[in-house]
Amino acid sequence: MSVMTPPGIKNPGDYIEDVMSTVKAKNAAEPEFHQAVQEVFDSLRLVLQKHPEYRSSKILERITEPERVIMFRVPWFDDRGEIQVNRGFRIEMNSAIGPYKGGLRFHPSVNLGILKFLAFEQVFKNSLTTLPMGGGKGGSDFDPKGKSDNEVMRFCQSFMTELSRHIGPDTDVPAGDIGVGGREIGFMFGQYKRLRNEFTGVLTGKGLSWGGSLIRPEATGYGCVYFAEEMLKSRKDSFEGKLCLVSGSGNVSQYTVEKLLDLGAKPLTFSDSDGVIYDPDGIDREKLAWVMDLKNVRRGRIREYGEKFKKAIFMPTDIKLEHNPLWNIKAACAFPSATQNEIRAKDAANLINNGCKLVAEGANMPCTLEATKMLLEAKVLYGPAKAANAGGVATSGLEMAQNSARLSWTREEVDDRLHKIMIAIHKNCFETAEKYGTPGNLVNGANIGGFLKVANAMLDQGLV
Ligand code: NAP
Repeated sequence: MSVMTPPGIKNPGDYIEDVMSTVKAKNAAEPEFHQAVQEVFDSLRLVLQKHPEYRSSKILERITEPERVIMFRVPWFDDRGEIQVNRGFRIEMNSAIGPYKGGLRFHPSVNLGILKFLAFEQVFKNSLTTLPMGGGKGGSDFDPKGKSDNEVMRFCQSFMTELSRHIGPDTDVPAGDIGVGGREIGFMFGQYKRLRNEFTGVLTGKGLSWGGSLIRPEATGYGCVYFAEEMLKSRKDSFEGKLCLVSGSGNVSQYTVEKLLDLGAKPLTFSDSDGVIYDPDGIDREKLAWVMDLKNVRRGRIREYGEKFKKAIFMPTDIKLEHNPLWNIKAACAFPSATQNEIRAKDAANLINNGCKLVAEGANMPCTLEATKMLLEAKVLYGPAKAANAGGVATSGLEMAQNSARLSWTREEVDDRLHKIMIAIHKNCFETAEKYGTPGNLVNGANIGGFLKVANAMLDQGLV
């Protein structure tokens, strides 16, 4: 049933367009942020018609404005005794349903716009997890690649010296993301504890002997495959024998490959910013263990895989090309797990032409708006990041729960909860898409499902 627009309130289309142009004007030169907002707004057209109260309460204007943005200088000494200066950020986007929660990214490409897009996505993703977590994101343009452990420690200590004033176990709980793994979380936790003289669950992704949760390192990759399994089930299909493409070779990629192997699929690829390896024999557990050692211990480059395993082909990435050769390999399923906008229109066309049945996003916003549209139109099963990769932050939520109770759950218990959460997220997205008249469109399902809970909490809490 459609609801009439009350007098004095703009119709949904005009309202969305007006807010979108204000977002672009106020956040100039932040294209990734515009892209993330546009995608959510496109889905919300379906909601705003039924709910004029979101328009009269200016929910879209409020939800796109971060509650707080913190930007700071991070000075540190390198191993030669020279002074280095980086920029640190924390975006505290929305705390309507819980403390701010979201990762820290250390990568030279980091800027305010990229972190705002990630923080905005995080608000809806956290809402979908079924756990009480608001949305935030942070990081720095610091590049951990090629730095010694001591340099990484000095940087992390300087970064946390400022960040510690703004976070806390009931206020804002950061975690890892690109360039921030167990090593970096350890250095930052140590510095927070020293400055505040308190041992609390202020960060997630901690080591097991100091408050971490089993399955947290595995959670994003495992969760993405659990979600994709539900997508396949919706078409009475399974992973058994399916060829799979995985991009990246970091945390998310590694555990995506591990869970794909558990479920009988055949993963074929890994990549990093230098290029792609394609192993026609498939990446088995032994080869995966070798990649984990290469990336997590020796901190090497994926091209070395081609030297170690002779049948594998290394293809360098050419940024001048409008496509990535990884997405032009024939396979049934694709798991983009490296970074934003890594699947563009030409890549989407290649996937579709090669008969790809499923794309599940391990990375955040890995498809451009055009690529997303093409995949949806071609009826490829499409699992958007804010649903498909929510297993990481969901398990961070489980780590927070264990810290609060001062307990540790077993591996089986955490994995079982993660699996159930991913099933619940899929069910919510699937049913919401159907309820709002776009069956099978999990992008709409995720955006609307995530939005409703946050928007209603904002209405309940008044104008804050
Ligand atoms: P990671 O361990 O640092 O691995 C990142 C991987 O992506 C590396 O192989 C890296 O290659 C590649 N990569 C990064 N930036 C790139 C670029 N601009 N071009 C090409 N390749 C690039 O990070 P991660 O934790 O796996 O995160 C991967 C993605 O998943 C990100 O989008 C992140 O936001 C998302 N995510 C992560 C989690 C989590 O729990 N970790 C949760 C939800 C979503 P190089 O080594 O060459 O840079």
